Amino acid sequence: LASLEAHPEPSIVDVSGVKIGNGHLGMIAGPCSVEDRDRMFRIAESVCESGANLFRGGAYKPRTSPYAFQGLGETGLKLLREVGDKFNMPVVTEVTDPRLVELVAEHADMLQVGARNMQNFALLTEVGKSQRPVLLKRGMSATITDLLMCAEYILSQGNMNVVLCERGVKGFDSATRNLFDVAAVPLIHNLSHLPVIVDPSHATGRPDLIPACALAGLAAGADGVHIEVHDCPEEAKSDGPQALLPDQYRQLADQMKELVKLF
Ligand code: PEP
Ligand code: MN
Repeated sequence: LASLEAHPEPSIVDVSGVKIGNGHLGMIAGPCSVEDRDRMFRIAESVCESGANLFRGGAYKPRTSPYAFQGLGETGLKLLREVGDKFNMPVVTEVTDPRLVELVAEHADMLQVGARNMQNFALLTEVGKSQRPVLLKRGMSATITDLLMCAEYILSQGNMNVVLCERGVKGFDSATRNLFDVAAVPLIHNLSHLPVIVDPSHATGRPDLIPACALAGLAAGADGVHIEVHDCPEEAKSDGPQALLPDQYRQLADQMKELVKLF
């Protein structure tokens, strides 16, 4: 179902009115985690002004350590919803557990399946039964075939609204958090009708490299860009070191708008 043979035209995924795919760019921005209320409103206001059309934030965080901040849970979902409604931006948030799909789908416009859960087949089946669009991130050691087969789990349950995300794979050099595989974008487009976006934040883990990789992703044909933004990265509950400041996002958003005019 994910293949071009099954569906030769590029798909467009509609996230509560925001289209992604076939010329429509999903500009997803927001903090890694949903945090306190004022901060969420501040960040949302700034990325919205810069041109982001979808707001992100994790309420359930898949952390390496069980002692690290795990997210605000349902409180975070409600807050994210409130912020999204205020700025008229549909919201994207991660769901980490099949038992949470119904709850997360009540509050969010798009369900994110994170890299660590790409092959959580019970979770894929459950989001496949949901009507909400899904953002499926590539696992950190997953091949493109693996990723497409995981999309297949969702599609085969009847949910055709799947957007894929290249977010970097494990590399050998710790200079970057992951290795940004920009070739994944045209490669997936050669194999599948599903929209593909890039996440240079998790792919590089470095604010200084994010703009170049975001632009490279768009030049390679990405249907959107997913970027983490925080107004005070030192205080961020997760992924502070890779966050762009609101002003840096604004600058990059302007560059991205200029670049896509060339297509
Ligand atoms: C995230 O989007 O904050 C996240 C945890 O991403 P990934 O699953 O790609 O690591
Ligand atoms: Mn993150």
